[in-house]
Amino acid sequence: RTTPRPVAIDDLPIRDELRGKSPYGAPQLDVPVQLNTNENPYPLPEPLVERITERVREAARGLNRYPDRDAVELRTALAAYLSRTAGHPVTTGQVWAANGSNEVIQQLLQTFGGPGRSAIGFEPSYSMHALISRGTGTEWLSGPRNDDFTVDLAAATRAIAEHRPEVVFITSPNNPTGTAVDAETVLALYEAAQAARPSLVVVDEAYVEFSHRPSLLPLIEGRPNLVVSRTMSKAFGAAGLRLGYLAADPAVVDAVQLVRLPYHLSAVTQATALAALEHTDTLLGYVEQLKAERDRLVAELRAIGYEVTDSDANFVQFGRFDGAGGAHDAWRRILDRGVLVRDNGVPGWLRVTAGTPAENDAFLDAVRELKKEQS
Ligand code: PMP
Repeated sequence: RTTPRPVAIDDLPIRDELRGKSPYGAPQLDVPVQLNTNENPYPLPEPLVERITERVREAARGLNRYPDRDAVELRTALAAYLSRTAGHPVTTGQVWAANGSNEVIQQLLQTFGGPGRSAIGFEPSYSMHALISRGTGTEWLSGPRNDDFTVDLAAATRAIAEHRPEVVFITSPNNPTGTAVDAETVLALYEAAQAARPSLVVVDEAYVEFSHRPSLLPLIEGRPNLVVSRTMSKAFGAAGLRLGYLAADPAVVDAVQLVRLPYHLSAVTQATALAALEHTDTLLGYVEQLKAERDRLVAELRAIGYEVTDSDANFVQFGRFDGAGGAHDAWRRILDRGVLVRDNGVPGWLRVTAGTPAENDAFLDAVRELKKEQS
């Protein structure tokens, strides 16, 4: 008797465009120093943990009811945060929130992309833009960058004019390179996208609190097809919370209501996010420490002899590993020293997230040894 072969994904009647594809998969390995997923290394401070407990206890008493479907209190608090920090007043009606900015992006693609439509991003960039496009039946177009990882504006505007995508992603600061995009470039891309179609331009500012430059959020004024997406996963140190949000014209917020699942943000999520927003100043204090550590990583990596891409994020792209084995071999050797960094598949480069000073020291020791081995 032969044992039956386990069922493979491709044996199932799945959509053709998903056949043979791989899911998003940063390795979750149990290693002493984990600097691979751009998380904030600082656990939430104890007074905030207390406040979350209080607010969640209160929310628990009402869990027999559905949560506020429009998350008005939370969106009001997010609007206040943006108004205070992003250099532009934002109203509750201009803000929408979902389970991580990944869900925000998914809702935008469900609304503005979809079958027969396309989206473009300038790569290397955040791989989920392409994956969520595929998941929503949106054709993905890969736009170019310059050798220094800045957006190649001439080539980007040509690609927009030629393909006329319905959605344009601009990631600033960009993941995995750390590169920020200036307002002039965003405006030029917006103009090109409006001339071609018009299309929706999504500025993904997941890491903007770590940037040397101000937010691009003021650009939404008078530009109804410009959306800025944000997250509490990085600066607020709350990746486990799953809370992302966007700011745009209120019409965009109305439009995503057409695809959002009713009650998508649980009462527990809303209560937890509200508690975290009460502690904004403490959390932004950690951001300042992380920015200093990020700058230290850039300086020390350069002193060791690595090439480093200027970073406006809480991570640093370094290289180059052009020899035998390339970046993946270097990734493995750093892992052998107990430090997990990220190989994003950019040939010759790796990415390290800024951790605590002790974690960063462990990383720097590892790559110092690696440099000695390789020279
Ligand atoms: N945008 C960018 C550029 C990111 O790097 C990430 C997280 N890695 C996200 C969005 C999504 O984050 P979240 O869903 O946790 O908000």
